[in-house]
Amino acid sequence: MVLFWFLAGCSGHPLVDQVLVLDRDEDGSYGLVPRELSTLEDRQRLVGPEGHGYRGGLLDAGGYREGGSLDIAWVDEGGVGVSVDEDGLILWSFYGQLAGAWQDLEDRGYQGPERGVAIAYNPVSVMDFQAAENAAYATSMHTFLLFPDMLQHGVPLAANAGVVRHEFGHAWFHALVVGDPHASPAWIDDGVVAEANAVAALNEGFADTTATLLLDDPAFIEASLDMPSRDVRGDWAAAPEDYPDPDAELNLLDMYDPYVLGTVFASMAWDVREATDPDTALDLAVRSLTTWGEEADWLNIDRYAVIYAELAASDPLAGPAACASLAARFPHVEEPPSCAR
Ligand SMILES: [Zn+2]
Repeated sequence: MVLFWFLAGCSGHPLVDQVLVLDRDEDGSYGLVPRELSTLEDRQRLVGPEGHGYRGGLLDAGGYREGGSLDIAWVDEGGVGVSVDEDGLILWSFYGQLAGAWQDLEDRGYQGPERGVAIAYNPVSVMDFQAAENAAYATSMHTFLLFPDMLQHGVPLAANAGVVRHEFGHAWFHALVVGDPHASPAWIDDGVVAEANAVAALNEGFADTTATLLLDDPAFIEASLDMPSRDVRGDWAAAPEDYPDPDAELNLLDMYDPYVLGTVFASMAWDVREATDPDTALDLAVRSLTTWGEEADWLNIDRYAVIYAELAASDPLAGPAACASLAARFPHVEEPPSCAR
């Protein structure tokens, strides 16, 4: 008994209720604040119902092979757990945002993606994830990938409330369209590059829709990166050259950029939010995506925007806003009958 308490006192800190994390306040600025992280059962290893942390591990086409346990070193500072290095701070902050994203959905009556993701911290990868993003969701592995930040000075991406909700939005997209979180999506199995690229654009758009509307922040990424091209208040409109080439073959030197069109989809939802409120705009997005997924016409991502306008028609404020947005942002798309009134 004495030995147990001695060990617990050394490494377990069982009496600390809160840990120090980087979090966002209502006006969008970030600071170090104590938070409960009430669902995080094992702070040292980052394990709770939402996810299970791993250090390293291997990521390849076959999936994620788990690495060892995380070992977050921390000290008790006046009843608050404080990690002794940046890695621990980022991991706790990420977990807090991830749990917060599920809570956001629960508060709005959505089920959301299945809980219990793998959280891979700095995995070894044969794929070049690091070049693109340093927080990512690996589709069909149900795994969040975190890489230590190297090139930025703002809020680390993995601690950015919007970036985490964006990645969470990818998991939600997968849940709404595919269902089984571990199943490979049909548009990947089809092997048609243009289909995969088109869906990737809508997937990025839905991820940004999730982040901007859950936080009611049209430029969440600004705290980390100077990227005005992702601000959903811009007057972005889809141009024919933004769509993937239907005859495209896999060519690593000529990668398709899904964010350009993705931002247009997210901006349409934001237009409706301006006329209504974030929850109305988000609910339309969720229902539109569900319907679009049921239709399974993968290359036709414009159809999502049309469905959005059709579903919005029953709301006296959302309807006109969605029709105006569809006309302005997707000028080549034929307006649905519900808009021609
Ligand atoms: Zn993304």
